[in-house]
Amino acid sequence: MKKIVLLGAPASGKGTQAAVLCGRLGIPKISTGDMLRAALSAGTALGKEAERYMSQGKLVPDEVVIGLVGERTAQPDAAAGFILDGFPRTVPQAEALAGLLRDRKTALDAVIQIDLPRELLFERAVLRRTDKRTGHIYHLKYNPPPPDAELEHRADDRDETVKKRLDEYDALTAALLPHYEKLGLLRRVDGVGAPTEVTTRILNALGTE
Ligand code: AMP
Repeated sequence: MKKIVLLGAPASGKGTQAAVLCGRLGIPKISTGDMLRAALSAGTALGKEAERYMSQGKLVPDEVVIGLVGERTAQPDAAAGFILDGFPRTVPQAEALAGLLRDRKTALDAVIQIDLPRELLFERAVLRRTDKRTGHIYHLKYNPPPPDAELEHRADDRDETVKKRLDEYDALTAALLPHYEKLGLLRRVDGVGAPTEVTTRILNALGTE
């Protein structure tokens, strides 16, 4: 059970869970959001193009992220499996992923959806902070950072942009749920609660705990 997609709205805890799960399962986390932010801070042409969309809470064009995932999943460390965090986000991306894996004579094993009510998603995103030095994610109310943390607030985690990202999610990404349900791959997990509780639920859903 090692080729896994983690789905969930922005701030559903996907990134946090993907980081824990990759350690527990011994497979890499592949996050298109992280790859795009890295391209952006490196100032590459791809990063500059992506920023136009990201800063407005919009999805980056499918072909851009499909290209990134195609290259990353072909790396040797991803041969035994991977956790995709933030990809696919549209049905065409899901179809491209299936095609890419089919060409390599493999397929997804499971798709986990982390469910969370919209009010909680909003509060989580707006109060989310990342420690620049460690990449660790904190929440000002529920998981306060240590005093020496060098905190960063993601530009796309501000009020208006969060609303737009949640709307984009409802408009485009929510369609992935019936898509993966039909394929018999979807498992839904309640995302309310402490991160460790959610991890246990995910491992149970994967049949690994
Ligand atoms: P994330 O860190 O996953 O929340 O992604 C941050 C932003 O990067 C998103 O709001 C999008 O603008 C862009 N992005 C990340 N992954 C994708 C994807 N699979 N498709 C389109 N845009 C993406």
